[in-house]
Amino acid sequence: MIHFIGAGPGAADLITVRGARLLGEADVIIYAGSLVNPALLDGRKEGCAVYDSASMTLEEVLEVMRAAERRGETTVRLHTGDPSLYGAIREQMDALDREGISYDVTPGVSSFSGAAAALEAEYTLPDVSQSVIITRMAGRTPVPEGEQLRKLASHGCTMVLFLSTGLLERVEEELQAGGYAPDTPAAIVYKATWPEEKVCRCTVSTLARTARENRITKTALITVGHFLGNSYERSKLYDPAFTHGCRKGKQG
Ligand code: SAH
Repeated sequence: MIHFIGAGPGAADLITVRGARLLGEADVIIYAGSLVNPALLDGRKEGCAVYDSASMTLEEVLEVMRAAERRGETTVRLHTGDPSLYGAIREQMDALDREGISYDVTPGVSSFSGAAAALEAEYTLPDVSQSVIITRMAGRTPVPEGEQLRKLASHGCTMVLFLSTGLLERVEEELQAGGYAPDTPAAIVYKATWPEEKVCRCTVSTLARTARENRITKTALITVGHFLGNSYERSKLYDPAFTHGCRKGKQG
């Protein structure tokens, strides 16, 4: 049995209770060493075999899984954040399906949630933005044509960019070509929830400079939009005058 588990964004106590239990029961752990906090391995079983996937190919990862299956052992494949985002789990699951090896998936706290917590922000403010676009800048890994950053930027909603810290000059251009004003608030969140976390607030036109000045080159998220500003309407849900399924509003 293979368990795909989201490790959370960094802090070792941000893994789920289920994830931590399965991790503690594993005979084999394959973890994404470039981003997963190694402190998560501290609770492993004695004799547990540990592999860092950072230097492994898909084929090598699958071979470790297969070998564990042949021995009747349990494998945990530990991915950073939530495995459904830029986690390359689909190709692993499809290969396991072809070989009749069973698996399940335990979600994790994604770094975009960790970044919101670090910013003490709400991505979906009433009247400001009710949508969050999660995307990345096209680099060595292409992005489908219809998802060019400038096209997505045209919505003017909250955006969270993964995997784009090395491309910030182009990010600035694309965001502005899509319609964000140069002074639209933005923030770079480096290593959200890790002890070395850094939050750098800036604007759409100062992203590259801000990253340079703070020597941030990777493991950061770029957040963009007026959710980082100070103007918004309060929610209907908690408005005394608003009636909904669980509460009757007071008039006057
Ligand atoms: N599945 C992960 C994302 C993996 S892609 C998740 O749900 O978070 C790797 C990218 O995620 C990094 O390049 C960076 O953009 C972002 N990232 C991962 N952990 C981060 C953290 N703690 N703080 C800021 N960004 C992070």
